[in-house]
Amino acid sequence: MQFSEVIGQQKIKERLIRSVTDGRISHAQLFLGSEGSGNLSLSLAFAQYITCLDRNDHDSCGVCPSCLKYKKLIHPDLHFVFPVVKTKNNDNPVSDHYIKEWREILLENPYLNLKQWLEKLDSENLQGSIYKNESSEILRKLNLKTYESEFKVMIIWMPEKMQPTTSNKLLKILEEPPPKTLFILVSENTSQILPTILSRTQLVKIPKIDFDSLYNKIKDLYNLSVQELNDIVRLADGNYLKANEIIRESEESEFNFKMFIDLMRSCYGREILKIIAWVEIIAEQGREKQKNFLEYSLRLIRENFILNTGQEKITLLSEKEASFSQKFSLFINSKNVIQISEELNKAYFHIERNGYDKIILLDMALKMVKLLKK
Ligand SMILES: [Zn+2]
Repeated sequence: MQFSEVIGQQKIKERLIRSVTDGRISHAQLFLGSEGSGNLSLSLAFAQYITCLDRNDHDSCGVCPSCLKYKKLIHPDLHFVFPVVKTKNNDNPVSDHYIKEWREILLENPYLNLKQWLEKLDSENLQGSIYKNESSEILRKLNLKTYESEFKVMIIWMPEKMQPTTSNKLLKILEEPPPKTLFILVSENTSQILPTILSRTQLVKIPKIDFDSLYNKIKDLYNLSVQELNDIVRLADGNYLKANEIIRESEESEFNFKMFIDLMRSCYGREILKIIAWVEIIAEQGREKQKNFLEYSLRLIRENFILNTGQEKITLLSEKEASFSQKFSLFINSKNVIQISEELNKAYFHIERNGYDKIILLDMALKMVKLLKK
């Protein structure tokens, strides 16, 4: 990753570059920044810059042998430590057991947060830790010769997830640092890190991404109006992940709304071919989106029933949903609301348990045909 790929953070980039050109690279640094600020991306860009064979005053070159290896995160002098999970088959996990998955996710999304990482690991309990065996791994790697570059770099992501024994071992290492080794601790929250470790590291405080940089990045990525861009970037509050999440959610709710209308219209009109075409579209979406659609539909059905009973004031509908619901609510009444909700819940239940989605959704739609007729 090059500095140019990191969103905003101009001042930090300049400061890091200056430390290299002045030859004052501190051997242990703590990149502290909130989620979506780019603290991990910056650590990668910094490490790549240090080992680049042809860097300039602004960035690494991106094309030398070292940069090419950094681009794939496979430089032999670049090491990672990150939280991992225990599984049935592995109750002594260390980072290297998951290095393949780690490279994959990091190349795809260098702004990732812990939740996304644990989801990638398919962890059900959503807890991750840097376990005790990691400290001997760290020592082992530090004893390796540097292969290709002057510096060995060890990026420790989320040191706040270190178990106490690991922290204590790391502290010893930081107290007597091996030569030509750079530790970059990348943290979102220092309150769980040993104060003695904090005192051994140089703090690099990464602020939230500034408005203009985030605005321009989002503008390049998505086709949005100025008004939408302003709203999203303001709400995202300097968090790149949050900005993406807001966009995804609004796209998804748009999609859900359209699919809901299509389904209800086709069911009401008993248009079987249209229903089958609808099933094809939603079957392409994957289970998570299907479940979100069903949840969304449950909410709209509930709100429409409330509308039907004449309690307009307590419904929670967007403008578009409300306008559609004015007429649609006439069809959702005490005779069918429970059964319709049950059908949606049932479909949710079966999809969650890996049933065959096309059959489940077609079956649900055909029940709707009947229920909407009552
Ligand atoms: Zn280079």
